[in-house]
Amino acid sequence: MRTYKVGGAVRDRLLGKPVTDIDWVVVGATTEEMLAKGFRPVGSDFPVFLHPKSGEEYALARTERKSGRGYGGFTFHASPEVTLEEDLIRRDLTINAMAEDDQQNLTDPYHGQRDLEARLLRHVSPAFAEDPLRVLRVARFAARYAALGFTVAPETLELMRQLSESGELQALTAERSWKEISRALMEDQPQVFIEVLRACGALKELMPEVDALFGVPQPQAHHPEIDTGAHTLSVLEQAARHKQPLTVRWACLLHDLGKGLTPEEEWPRHIAHEFKGLKLIKAVNERFKAPKDCQELALLVGEYHTHGHRALELKPSTLLELLQSFDVYRRPQRFEEFIAACEMDARGRRGLEQRSYPQVDYLRGAATAARSVAVQPLLEKGFKGPELGEAIKRERLKALKAYKETASF
Ligand code: ATP
Ligand code: MG
Repeated sequence: MRTYKVGGAVRDRLLGKPVTDIDWVVVGATTEEMLAKGFRPVGSDFPVFLHPKSGEEYALARTERKSGRGYGGFTFHASPEVTLEEDLIRRDLTINAMAEDDQQNLTDPYHGQRDLEARLLRHVSPAFAEDPLRVLRVARFAARYAALGFTVAPETLELMRQLSESGELQALTAERSWKEISRALMEDQPQVFIEVLRACGALKELMPEVDALFGVPQPQAHHPEIDTGAHTLSVLEQAARHKQPLTVRWACLLHDLGKGLTPEEEWPRHIAHEFKGLKLIKAVNERFKAPKDCQELALLVGEYHTHGHRALELKPSTLLELLQSFDVYRRPQRFEEFIAACEMDARGRRGLEQRSYPQVDYLRGAATAARSVAVQPLLEKGFKGPELGEAIKRERLKALKAYKETASF
């Protein structure tokens, strides 16, 4: 039996990038032999094992055939006769279909190295079309390697387009899609992920609410880039540049969905888009079963981002309502993430990337002022129940009035 490093480990070593996890393929072995060597089996679908010491993944060389719709519709065939070349041909991209033995001898039947040099993301074989998840994977790799100059090969993009048109993307489970989406959003250039999905028609299938923003104008005075889709991509780009967490990036992507619902007669204005967008944000959240913190922040940012921009003009009572909506007293971190999303929204506009945005410090100060109201003295005065709640609110309002008068912005 022979073992080879495969996939990302080979690709990233050739690119001179750090290799984090190593995947191995084993040729010429049976399940029984693997178990006899102390490998631990993983799951039941594939012949995959964990190394008894390193814990790394070792998969028996296998071939696949599509036998139905979706990812469940695959039959696998693993046996000691399956060759390395046969295993590599079922992989998604040529740059992911190289193998290396312990002497660093490369097996590269589908010219991955050539495509690495040409900076091309190219599918290995027409079997690419058998798993629609690959559309998202290619877009994710495009986002990751855009800075190195990688693009999607035209014939691969064409295949992705056919796959998107076929409706097969609808067969993906929320879990598989979210895993790709969340990883892609955390790449250095997440906006490229959305651009590639749009270029092959997958965005329309997966997130029609985001796709609808392209071609929708906004007032030039606030948005020199005009187009709402272009703006959304810039906001995402800023979020990555400022190393924002996934929650903020997800909220950035969805914050303006309501603008896609504005009747053309009202363009370029978008009255009440914050509120109108909520049902769309909810739909996208649920479609991909996004984690609770991502869902919550996206809805709050959707509803309140304009408040963030107008922070310095808000009346103390409106400021208080904003802080209450975020439950800033128990969830200070979530309010920080809201402020960050507003800042990214403000910077994701052409030529305004470096603008000053005092709203960040102002809102932070307001939160501190409201949170500094102590409950103990009110308890001592005898307030309880709903009256106590009202008294706390009054004190917080007083604190915010004082803050607004004294804060120098
Ligand atoms: P990463 O750095 O993101 O881990 P990777 O290339 O190692 O990148 P993995 O998801 O770890 O990606 O998968 C390992 C290898 O398995 C890939 O390089 C690819 O050859 C193959 N692979 C994984 N998922 C698919 C898929 N859906 N279709 C085809 N090949 C796949
Ligand atoms: Mg990997």
